[in-house]
Amino acid sequence: MKKLRRRFQALPRRFWVAAAAVFFIVSIAVSIYVGRGNAPAPMQVPISSLLNLADQHQLLRVDINNNTLYAVGTDGKQYVSLKEDQQTVTEQLRRDGVVVTVSDGSRAALGPSTIAAILPIAIILGVIWLMMRHGGPNNQAMSFGRSGARRYDGDSRPVTFDDVAGVEEAKQELAEIVQFLKYPEKFRAMGARVPKGVLLVGPPGTGKTLISRAVAGEAAVPFFSISGSEFVEMFVGVGASRVRDLFRQAKRSAPCIVFIDEIDAVGRHRGNGFSGHDEREQTLNQLLVEMDGFDINTNIIVIAATNRPDVLDQALLRPGRFDRRVTLDPPDIGGRRAILEVHAQTKPLEPEVDLAAIAQQTAGFSGADLANVLNEAAILAARSGKEAIGRHELEEGIMRVVAGPERRSRVVTDYEKSIISYHEVGHALVMKALKHAHPVTKVSVIARGQALGLTVQAPKHDSYLTSKAQLMARMAALLGGRAAEELIFGDVTTGARQDLDAVTDLARRMVLEFAMSDLGVVAAPSSERGGELSPEMAAKVDHETIRLIDEAFNTARAILRERRDKLVEIAEHLLKVETIDGAELDALLGPDWTYYA
Ligand code: ADP
Ligand code: MG
Ligand code: ZN
Repeated sequence: MKKLRRRFQALPRRFWVAAAAVFFIVSIAVSIYVGRGNAPAPMQVPISSLLNLADQHQLLRVDINNNTLYAVGTDGKQYVSLKEDQQTVTEQLRRDGVVVTVSDGSRAALGPSTIAAILPIAIILGVIWLMMRHGGPNNQAMSFGRSGARRYDGDSRPVTFDDVAGVEEAKQELAEIVQFLKYPEKFRAMGARVPKGVLLVGPPGTGKTLISRAVAGEAAVPFFSISGSEFVEMFVGVGASRVRDLFRQAKRSAPCIVFIDEIDAVGRHRGNGFSGHDEREQTLNQLLVEMDGFDINTNIIVIAATNRPDVLDQALLRPGRFDRRVTLDPPDIGGRRAILEVHAQTKPLEPEVDLAAIAQQTAGFSGADLANVLNEAAILAARSGKEAIGRHELEEGIMRVVAGPERRSRVVTDYEKSIISYHEVGHALVMKALKHAHPVTKVSVIARGQALGLTVQAPKHDSYLTSKAQLMARMAALLGGRAAEELIFGDVTTGARQDLDAVTDLARRMVLEFAMSDLGVVAAPSSERGGELSPEMAAKVDHETIRLIDEAFNTARAILRERRDKLVEIAEHLLKVETIDGAELDALLGPDWTYYA
């Protein structure tokens, strides 16, 4: 506070005039707020009821403060509820479309109405503060924390390599960085050039942030984290100064890790003429300057994460900058199992739960998805008052991650429901009739997320190559819904919208990217590679795309026409039971079921 006052004295007179005016306005605003009288006291409800309200889309927003949840309903009603210590509900609430904010303990005593009253003051103080930051060269006194980076170290249990699973190669490569942070002399004595920057490359949710924190945890050094997108949102000139501050702070705490998430937000190739991205460029330049300025004794490792290494400015990748690249791939079946095991450690599972089976059903899931599955399952088990998480909760957890929670409250007429049922069974039967289609694991007419009904397939194995026959089978399966509607109702609905998008996309890629059409073995120039299709070529591509889709649609139609009786039988059954799993479907198909030639 003292420092703050000293700064104020140095400010020009007009600043004081402005500040006085601002203060005046705020006082008026506050008196209006207070004068309005307090809102009725929030109603105390159990957490289970609160989550149910969220499921029924009756909650607008929730503020989580430690274990207390303040919620506001769509009707303006306020609720207060307590949750368990370790229970996280954010993800679920978000999925139910609730705005979730988290506040820290110090604000615990303040009710929502107090916050509303203080907010405008806070905003105005914030603006004053921002103005001061541009106040000249003598504002170093306030530099602490200016970079906006978050620092993690100290009391909470550090993340270690044991918390990261399924990415063994990345762990091995980063173990070397840990060694360097721990025993820098050893490396220097050998005359080894020590790494400065590591680029972590991988799709979202593969554990880039997690493994970076694990490096800091293993080496027992502080961890500074900032996101590239935060730089870009800032006012002109602030990004570069933040970078400077960040590294000043980091140098004081060296050895340490500086983690820059989403580096592509600042690190895209620089300038092609009219940028309008000056801010980004300055930030990037400052980052390069800082990294080049590390001398041989600077024990700072900069780890940057991205899922778009292709767009990065080459300058970032030069020796002495981010010259190490570590890739995190989506986990294979063994990796998924290992990740599930890590996250299951803190959760009670029923003895018959088989994580290997869950790993098998979750091909294509990232580490974050898998963590979510277990979390959703834990919430479901807690909600139904169970002692441990069972297979049922885990399967529902998978479905929630794939498609969102069930929305039983959505009202559909019986007629619509029967269309949905035939549509879904149409998908399922086409999948079951084609050798190259993946096994069906679930068919359902219960709405989830955006979907009115759902047919779920899970591949038997992870695969890295897909054949043309498999893609054709996928297209036919996608069109099975539409084909069933046409066959049974003699009319079609908008329900196939997403299927049609997916089919069109797939067919186009088959023509353009995989050269799987009659156009021959040529991958057309994509815009990324700087090429443009000639008009004649574009017309041919369209023609081939349409032809592939037609072929797939005809396959779907033929399959269902031949199996119309089964379609009717199973769709009518599904209307009654609402959900069928893979084994039940096989039983309904019976022993006479044959593949489509
Ligand atoms: P990224 O930064 O690549 O988007 P994160 O590190 O933020 O991914 O991962 C989010 C969460 O997902 C982690 O906090 C962790 O709970 C889980 N997770 C992701 N990958 C793994 C993994 N390989 N092992 C264990 N947990 C993982
Ligand atoms: Mg991350
Ligand atoms: Zn469909």
